[in-house]
Amino acid sequence: MMNRRGLIGASLVGSAMIGAKAPRAEAAAEGSVKLEGPCVISTWDFGVAANQAAWAVLSKGGRALDAVEAGARVPEQDLKNHSVGRAGYPDRDGHVSLDACIMDELGNCGAVAALEHIAHPISVARKVMEKTPHVMLVGAGALQFAIEQGFQYEELLTPDSKAAWEAWKKDAKYQPKANSEVGDYGKTSGQLGTPGGANNHDTLGMLAIDAKGDIAGACTTSGMAWKLRGRVGDSPIIGAGLYVDNDVGGATSTGVGEEVIRNVGSFLVVELMRQGRSPQDACREAVERILKKKPQAKAIQVGFLAINKQGEVGAWAIQSGFSYALCDGRKQDLLLPGKATYQAAS
Ligand code: ASP
Repeated sequence: MMNRRGLIGASLVGSAMIGAKAPRAEAAAEGSVKLEGPCVISTWDFGVAANQAAWAVLSKGGRALDAVEAGARVPEQDLKNHSVGRAGYPDRDGHVSLDACIMDELGNCGAVAALEHIAHPISVARKVMEKTPHVMLVGAGALQFAIEQGFQYEELLTPDSKAAWEAWKKDAKYQPKANSEVGDYGKTSGQLGTPGGANNHDTLGMLAIDAKGDIAGACTTSGMAWKLRGRVGDSPIIGAGLYVDNDVGGATSTGVGEEVIRNVGSFLVVELMRQGRSPQDACREAVERILKKKPQAKAIQVGFLAINKQGEVGAWAIQSGFSYALCDGRKQDLLLPGKATYQAAS
C-alpha cells in the first residue's frame, strides 16, 4: 500500500512546475521530474547544500566530475552531519571510518573504504582513480595513500559524536535507524534534528550532468553507526552505491548497504534504464527486487535515486521519509520526497 507522504511532490513536470506547491501525485506520470541543461541531484535534505556547491562548478561550464567532488565535500565537512565525513558516528569501538567512491563519464572510477582520519574521503577516492592503476583502497593502505597524497591526518570523532557513542554503549544494540520522516534533518538545513541522532545512517549520493551532457557521480558516507570495525557498506562499491554510464544515466543509493550490495543496486537501476525504463520505474524495480528476495527488508530503509541522459529524475524507497534534492538553471534548492513502496506500521 502506498504511503501518502511518499506520494507527495514527485509529479512535478517541466520548468513551470519546478518549485511550485506539489500537488497530490496519484495520477503522476512515471519519471516525470525533468531537469534542463546542466543539473545535479543528491540524496537527502543535506543534498540541497551539496547541490549548491556542485552548481557553482556546473554553472560556470565546469565538468560534472569536479561538480560532484565539490558537492560531496560539503556534508563531509559539516559538523552537524553525523552520517557523512568528519563528525560521522563511529563504529562499535569508537573509530570513525569513512567510505566513498566517484565515477566519471568515461567509466573511470575510484574508491576508498574503511578510511580513518581523513576528512574528505571523496577527494581521496578521486586520487585513487587518477593516480593509481587501482579502483579501491581500504583501511590502513587507503590512509597511507592519502597521507602520501598530502591529505591531513586528523581526529574525526567530534565531542557530539563521542557523546552519542558513549550513550549508545549503555545498551550497545546494533539497530539501523534510518530517517523515517521527512524533516529528521530539519528539512533543508542539512542538520540532524535530534541530539544523538534520530537516525544513525545516511549517505550523500550525487549525480551531475554538465553543459557537455557528460555524467559523473559521487557517493560518501560514514556508514552504519556502531558497525563492526572493518564493516563496509554499499557506498564505496561501484555498481552497488553508485554507477554511471554516460550513454544511459546514473544511479546511487542510500540505506542499509548490505541489501544494496546483495542486489548490485545502482548497476541494476542503470541497466533497467538502458532497457527503456524511466528512472523512477527503474528505482522502484530495484527496491522491489530487494523486498522480493527478502521480505523482512521492509523493516529497514533503502532508497535509490537516478537520472537518465535526458535529465529525467526518479527515486524510490522502501520507507517514506527518503528525500532528494534537485538543482538546475531554474532552481537550486528543490527538495522532494522519494516514493515509498512500503507502508510502515505506525
Ligand atoms: N548505505 C550506507 C551504508 O550502508 C548507509 C546509508 O546510506 O544509510 O553504509
